[in-house]
Amino acid sequence: MIPPLANRFVAGTTDSEALDHVADLNSEGIGGILNLLGEHYHERDPADGDADQYIDLATTLATRDLDGSISVKPSQIGIDIGPTPFEENFARIVEAAAAEDVFVWCDIEDHTTTDTTLDAVGSMAREYPGQVGVALQANLKRTREDIRRFADLPAAVRLVKGAYDEPPSVAHQKKEYVNEAYEDYLEFMFREFDGGIAVGSHDPTMIDRAVELHDEYGTDFEIQMLMGVREDAQRELASQGYEVNQYVPYGDKWFQYFYRRIRERKENVIFAVRAIVGV
Ligand code: FAD
Repeated sequence: MIPPLANRFVAGTTDSEALDHVADLNSEGIGGILNLLGEHYHERDPADGDADQYIDLATTLATRDLDGSISVKPSQIGIDIGPTPFEENFARIVEAAAAEDVFVWCDIEDHTTTDTTLDAVGSMAREYPGQVGVALQANLKRTREDIRRFADLPAAVRLVKGAYDEPPSVAHQKKEYVNEAYEDYLEFMFREFDGGIAVGSHDPTMIDRAVELHDEYGTDFEIQMLMGVREDAQRELASQGYEVNQYVPYGDKWFQYFYRRIRERKENVIFAVRAIVGV
């Protein structure tokens, strides 16, 4: 059971609690992106175990006929052990999920894992067109090239600003540069992609820009935000007819995730406390 405050950001410890949350989201016209919490495994057993859980989750998601997808972290399924365990587990998950017509997102982690992650996603996208997507980070200097590469692949891209502390040799450090790059990449994606664009941001400026670009180019897109963050905006955008998907973390490793949400933004604590006391 997730305690108050944390339960604003984490849907529960079990698959069934997380799926109940997705059912509630669906009733408000919002899809769910399920993420079983766990990362940086250095042994094969837990990495294989979480991959197995994602496979079961894909089946349950399909059985319950929910509007949902899954999102996997590379270091949760073996990338810290080596490329092969990650590639094998990712392939197993995508193959099983595709059989149930469940879409698989791959989160992206620090820059040392980018090549292996994008190669695995690219290769699974060629095998299962339209069934996989990956996050790309606007703060990384390499991302312009990565977006160009993904424009030619049958994979979706979730554009995010980037959550990892990266050195200046590989990443823009100033927020203004990251925001400028984000808008620049959005423009490229709306112009060059045939769809498969996910705006992974809570930033009203980026969402407004995506709406403008959609009006200009007509390319389909979706908005992705985290559970517990700007949920009023998520409902409002969904009610206006935009596709909104909420990233829904769950699992017994909830504390570290919750702590990160609180540390990155003190408003998150204030929002959570206000939700509890109802003001
Ligand atoms: P910021 O640049 O942090 O803030 C800009 C504006 O957005 C703020 O001024 C405010 O108006 C609004 N805002 C932001 N946060 C809040 C809040 N908590 N409450 C109210 N308003 C707020 N990063 C990765 O590196 N890899 C991933 O795979 C990845 N996946 C993600 C998936 C999703 C669905 C999302 C939403 C983010 C993901 N991220 C990922 C994190 C991302 O890289 C950013 O670190 C994070 O989203 C913060 O950037 P932002 O664009 O949301 O807004």
